Amino acid sequence: MSAGHRPPANAGPSQGFQPGAKKHLGQNFLHARDVIEKIVQAIAPKPGDALVEIGPGQGALTFPLLDRHAALTAIEFDRDLHAPLQAAARAHGQLRLIEGDVLAVDFSALAAELHAPGGRIRLVGNLPYNLSSPILFHALDHARAIVDMHFMLQKEVVDRMAAAHGSKVYGRLSVMLQAFATVTPLFTVPPGAFRPAPKVDSAVVRLVPRPSAQIGIADPALFAQLVRAAFGQRRKTLRNALKGLAEAAEIESAGISANARAEQVAVTGFVQLANRLAAR
Ligand code: SAM
Repeated sequence: MSAGHRPPANAGPSQGFQPGAKKHLGQNFLHARDVIEKIVQAIAPKPGDALVEIGPGQGALTFPLLDRHAALTAIEFDRDLHAPLQAAARAHGQLRLIEGDVLAVDFSALAAELHAPGGRIRLVGNLPYNLSSPILFHALDHARAIVDMHFMLQKEVVDRMAAAHGSKVYGRLSVMLQAFATVTPLFTVPPGAFRPAPKVDSAVVRLVPRPSAQIGIADPALFAQLVRAAFGQRRKTLRNALKGLAEAAEIESAGISANARAEQVAVTGFVQLANRLAAR
C-alpha cells in the first residue's frame, strides 16, 4: 500500500490501496461495515472449515474473515491487486492467494489439496456480476466438493435463482440451481454499500448442494440439455420446444401437460421427465 493511498482511520476495510476500480472485472468494492459483518455472520466460519473466497478485491470480506478464521484461500484475477492484498492480509491471518481466473480453478482438486474436512470447501464471495452465471454453473460442476456457498450477486439474479415455477423470472438458472442445491436468499444490499455504487440492488444468497441421493437425476447431461431446450424457447409449448428430444406422450407420462410452457413446470417435473428419457 502506498502512503498516498492509505485510508483514513475510520474508513471501511475495503477503502484503500487502489484508486481506480476496473469495470470490466466487475469491481464494485464493498465498504459498508454493517453489510460486511452481516455476511461474515451468515457464513459463520467454524474451526477447521476450508474457506475459499472468489474475488477478494481489496480485502473487504477477506480481512474480517481472516480476523475470525485465521486462514483462507482466495482467487483473484486482477494482477494489480495481488501484492497489496498479500501485504495487507499479513496483519489479519494466513492468506493463500491463487492468482488467476476462478473459472480455471478445479474446486474438487482444490478441496483435496487443502485437505478440506470431508473433502469439501466452503465458497464465499462478492462476485463480479458480469461472471455470476458462469461462476454458479462452474461451482455446480463441483457441487460434491462444496459444503455451501455464500455469494453477493445482483438482486435480480438472486430472484431468478430462487424463483418458483409460475413466476415470470423462473427459468433455466432457477431449475438448474434448485435441482442440485437449496437456494436461500438472505438479505438485500443497496448500491450505496459499494464503491463505485452499482446501478442496481444486490443480494446475498446461500446455496447448499444437495446430497447426490436426494437429487435423483439419472443423467445430469441429459437433464441440462432438456432444461436448456425447454427454456430456450420459453413461449412455446413443451410439445414444440422439446421436438427431437421428447415425444408428447413421454412428456405426458412424466405427469406434465405437453401443452404447458417451461415456466409452468416444477423442478421435480423436469427431473421426472429427464429420468424417463434417460431410461428409454
Ligand atoms: N470482495 C471484494 C469486495 O467485496 O469489495 C471485491 C468484489 S468485486 C465485486 C469482484 C472481484 O472479483 C474483483 O476483485 C475482481 O477483480 C475479481 N474478479 C473478476 N473476475 C474474476 C475472475 N475471473 N476470477 C477471479 N476473480 C475475478
